[in-house]
Amino acid sequence: MLLMIPGPVQLHERIIRAMARQMIGHRTADFSAIMEFCVEKLREIFGTKGDICLISGSGTAGMEAAIASFSRVKKIATLENGKFGERLGDIAERYTQVERVKVPWGESFELDAVKEALDNGCEAVAFVHNETSTGILNPAKEIAKLAKEYDALVIMDAITSAGGDYVKMDEWGVDVAIVGSQKCLGAPPGLAAVAVSEKAWDYYNERCPYYLDLAAYRKKLKDMQTPYTPAVPLFFALAEALKIIDEEGLENRIQRHRILSAAVRKWAVEAGLELFPNLNKYSSYSNTVTAIKMPEGVSDSELRGTLKKEYGILVSGGQGELKGKIFRIGTMGNVGKFETVSTLAALEDVLMRKNAIKPALQYAQILLRDLQ
Ligand SMILES: *Cc1c(COP(=O)(O)O)cnc(C)c1O
Repeated sequence: MLLMIPGPVQLHERIIRAMARQMIGHRTADFSAIMEFCVEKLREIFGTKGDICLISGSGTAGMEAAIASFSRVKKIATLENGKFGERLGDIAERYTQVERVKVPWGESFELDAVKEALDNGCEAVAFVHNETSTGILNPAKEIAKLAKEYDALVIMDAITSAGGDYVKMDEWGVDVAIVGSQKCLGAPPGLAAVAVSEKAWDYYNERCPYYLDLAAYRKKLKDMQTPYTPAVPLFFALAEALKIIDEEGLENRIQRHRILSAAVRKWAVEAGLELFPNLNKYSSYSNTVTAIKMPEGVSDSELRGTLKKEYGILVSGGQGELKGKIFRIGTMGNVGKFETVSTLAALEDVLMRKNAIKPALQYAQILLRDLQ
């Protein structure tokens, strides 16, 4: 099966092989060397000099660690325009007062709404950079800038942006950011990294969940260890994934993600399909996952089911209220032109049979021409 979903992503052979080895002790110099490499590379990917806390758990463990550990605020604003924004709100409600700034899924935020939440006394803002459920890239820089005018804490879910798109925590003024291993980093699922600025510790809440208490992770970071037994095989895999990123170069990798997603969007538009997100002047289309409206007269099983059965290609459907209304193509991690063209050709075949589109593959191929 070819995975063209927004995580978990297809694994590079090198990453698969990296996991097939004997265990090492996690209180050894061998483990610390691996961890040190991961921490150093993740700092580059997040664009920060801050602490990197590595948690054995999925991305959501990172989200909860980030919010709970820094929840000593009167009120937090959670910006919600999709499933993962709503998850931030759901998590935050367990730890502090929350003002949920909501727009319908796929819509863009107006900065005035964020400003209003800050005027209402929110001391922190949490938002999703790349909202995977709707294929929208939220304006991280603008949101962080506004929050800084109020000296508010800024928490950003960068789970499907870090490693595939620009993330510049220190430059933008983001205090806490999260990434999951199975998205743009190209590693298997099971690790989350939370990057933390010095300022975030002013909001530290010692009554956060024991396992997700980031102060414990920071403490062990001095020895390049984790507080509890880490998922050692996943660290082998993450280190290899980060080595691959290093070899490609972060800038090249971001450009590759941009070209692949631009090709998917171009195909969709030329085929006569409609992209799902509704942009304003601040938001843009995601550069790592593309959400497309399901054409009239085609069901989710006719599209995704046929693609899976006949071609062995997996794309995602809509989540929650968007089930059956959209489909999503992930172009994250180490996939390239081959996987992208194959996916679009297969989609084109399935949709042409339903008379739902016009042929458009060549338009995508033109954009992909210079990609190796
Ligand atoms: C995948 C994803 C998550 C959740 O990660 P899990 O690893 O499934 O816990 C959170 N936020 C965004 C934006 C995601 O794409």
